[in-house]
Amino acid sequence: MKAAASTKLVYDFAEGSREMRELLGGKGANVAEMTRVLGADRVPAGFTITTEACVAYMQGDREFPDGLDEQVAEALARLEEQAGKTLGDAEDPLLVSVRSGARESMPGMLDTILNLGLNDESVEGLGGDRFAWDSYRRFVQMFGNVCRGIPGERYEDLISEVGRDLDADGLQALTERFKRVFQDETGEEFPNDPREQLKQAIRAVFDSWLGDRAVSYRRINHIPDEWGTAVNVQQMVFGNRGERSCSGVAFSRDEVTGEPKPSGDFLVNAQGEDVVSGVRTPRDLPEMKDVMPDAYDELREILSTLEQHYRDMQDTEFTVEEGRLYMLQTRSAKRPAQAAVRFAVDAVEEGLLDKPEAIATIDADRLDALLHPHFKRGAKFDVLAEGVPASPGAAKGAIVFTAADAVAAAAEGRDVVLVRPFTEADDVAGFHAAKGILTAEGGKASHAALVARGMGKPCVAGAGTLQVDLKAKTVTVEDTTLSEGDLIAIDGSAGVVTADDVELEEADVSEHFETVLGWADELRDLGVRANADTPHDAAKAREFGAEGIGLCRTEHMFMAEDRQPKMRAMIMAESEDDRRKALDALLPLQQQDFEGLFEEMSGLPVTIRLLDPPLHEFLPSAEDLAAELEHARNEGSPDVGELEHTLDRVHSLSETNPMLGTRGVRLGVLHPEVYEMQVRAIVRGALAVEAPPQVEIMIPLVAYEKELELMRELVERVIDEEGGEHLDLKIGTMIELPRACFVADRIADHADFFSFGTNDLTQTALGFSRDDVEGRFLTRYMERKVLDRSPFETIDAPGVGWLVRLAAWVGRESHPGLKLGICGEHGGDPESIHFFQLAGLDYVSCSPYRVPIARVAAAQAALG
Ligand code: ADP
Ligand code: MG
Ligand code: MG
Repeated sequence: MKAAASTKLVYDFAEGSREMRELLGGKGANVAEMTRVLGADRVPAGFTITTEACVAYMQGDREFPDGLDEQVAEALARLEEQAGKTLGDAEDPLLVSVRSGARESMPGMLDTILNLGLNDESVEGLGGDRFAWDSYRRFVQMFGNVCRGIPGERYEDLISEVGRDLDADGLQALTERFKRVFQDETGEEFPNDPREQLKQAIRAVFDSWLGDRAVSYRRINHIPDEWGTAVNVQQMVFGNRGERSCSGVAFSRDEVTGEPKPSGDFLVNAQGEDVVSGVRTPRDLPEMKDVMPDAYDELREILSTLEQHYRDMQDTEFTVEEGRLYMLQTRSAKRPAQAAVRFAVDAVEEGLLDKPEAIATIDADRLDALLHPHFKRGAKFDVLAEGVPASPGAAKGAIVFTAADAVAAAAEGRDVVLVRPFTEADDVAGFHAAKGILTAEGGKASHAALVARGMGKPCVAGAGTLQVDLKAKTVTVEDTTLSEGDLIAIDGSAGVVTADDVELEEADVSEHFETVLGWADELRDLGVRANADTPHDAAKAREFGAEGIGLCRTEHMFMAEDRQPKMRAMIMAESEDDRRKALDALLPLQQQDFEGLFEEMSGLPVTIRLLDPPLHEFLPSAEDLAAELEHARNEGSPDVGELEHTLDRVHSLSETNPMLGTRGVRLGVLHPEVYEMQVRAIVRGALAVEAPPQVEIMIPLVAYEKELELMRELVERVIDEEGGEHLDLKIGTMIELPRACFVADRIADHADFFSFGTNDLTQTALGFSRDDVEGRFLTRYMERKVLDRSPFETIDAPGVGWLVRLAAWVGRESHPGLKLGICGEHGGDPESIHFFQLAGLDYVSCSPYRVPIARVAAAQAALG
């Protein structure tokens, strides 16, 4: 499909606005908006080629859509007119940058070309001096690298040969050598015609959308391939025009802590790429006050104007050319959790936002980082190196040097820290897998820092004393050399690195965070509970603000070492009598467990799920037993008889697909004495504590209404027998099978509450098991766009979610006032929480650590 010839594919900055982000990309829309807000003399002029043009290009076998050439030529003519300069002019040339910009920013994914329009004639027009040749040299390098994929090292090697301190002649010679590199690598001459340069650059930006780096970034961040990128062509301003010029990035507030003071990096006599590339170490923004006080004051003013206008913390890029300040980009700042929380609180205090608006600026998912561990306070350790505190939280693990090694180690469940000189887009998969990131180069705005903050991973960047040798796989600081696999620990809040095994300590919730959580609690409708099996988890959950326990898995209580043999005896029992004896031994232990939990949760609801897992989980494996038996036979051991018996029993209990076998309520129906014991323990526990909670007894895996009817009779009888009638006890079921959803009205007749077990409901609705899907076909499914993420992470709203809505609806229809909750993994996922709000549930339940996230997400869901 080609865009119709009449489609407008090019917009001048003066025509755009921030509402046009889909069409103009984030960068283009915001540059246009800034042009309106700050005035045309603050933002270099230019135009944007739309994302639609990119989409048409991709669909049309990488050919420019009809009309694009003409529209670009017209826009360029307007730009030349406005600038009073012509592209490629030998006297006073117009130079432009060509910048990509998708709807969502994709840091470092697509490249920018600066100084386009330089050639052997116009370089003289630019002055023919050191500055002009430096600009030309950069252009030839970037053009070759970005447009033709010539590896950066080809150029960097030549630079290393001659050094960075060159005069005009030196730079001219270097430019010539760069052009020869181009010729060697491509077999073509470096394009001298600026219009040809522009065409190739636009094409390269379009193509970069389809490049591997961009594709893998989109996968991870759930950005649709269909969006395409816009291309911005903008008149150049020069931060490399001497000592009164600079380039930098500036945040309206501290981008790490959120403190209300501008922060960022800048470099004198440099172009923007230098600030992020890590080639030169940038200076802290506040130092700009000493170097160029006027420009600094203007910048502060502009940052505040932009913040007021966007009503959000801004992340900007700027250039000062001979004392004159230009703004090149602004966007809402991505921020680590601590800054997000700080900003929300300050913004309300400053009157910039009201509470609901402030809550809406927080990415709930990212709050995780605030609950990340830090180095134990007062811990003694030797500082191996110091760097920039680029992303908060502490991490500890074995050293790996490549993303691939990080991924492999994570797959084996090993904790690793990714150590690199600097990182690039190709390393992003390693960020996911690693506990933390450490780089020797770069500052707060380096790729490593940006990506780590985006993911909530601890990161120390620019630890300059580290010598990372990727070939030898070692990292050296003075006389200490560490190799792959050696332990390293980083504190991304302090910027500290150590090789000592320092203890990490859980985070405590800061004052600002408490404030935000308090607001969230005022605003939300959904209750938030935690999944907790032990008094320790329950205490943690309460500390994080859980309003009850939504799921206590009793089987975990049987997994403890002193319980296992008793549990096994219970399962192995061949008569009810024997089984009851074994259960009698378990009863007091269960009661203790519940007492501990009830004390912790006094007065709050606690949902206890009766035994659910397949019994074989408590038995030794048939294979191991067979081996043991063989050994015993060879030894003539007296255990042979016993072992034979055990093996027989294990065989007779074995099921083809235990996850779809005798579990949940089926156990209760087959062996009622097991549930009886559990209920007895619950009632006794509740009677034993001073202030018992509101206990909710939950029957798992119900498919037929009759199952629940039978279990309800059993539970009520035991409550009676134990004299617990006066207790606040409710009986309900976990909804985790499609049939249960379809007949929820009938099941509701026997239930005081439903709790959606969305993990199993997802497995049973989709017919695949969570443990298999991740490693096997999920990646391929995402590549083929069957899915855009795991349905175990975010609820599959149209499918599994429909079952939830149906069950909620018909359940409540037959039983008004039926209490509805969700206790699957999804209970802690912000997007799923939005869905549960819409589905009309009463509460979500998630792991204790996600409780704060769920509180904020629930508030956001209530605000719509
Ligand atoms: P990215 O998405 O990687 O940040 P940008 O398109 O923002 O890429 O460009 C990177 C940097 O290049 C900018 O921050 C700025 O310093 C520099 N730059 C881009 N366009 C211009 C321009 N017209 N004049 C001067 N510098 C520019
Ligand atoms: Mg870029
Ligand atoms: Mg930028």
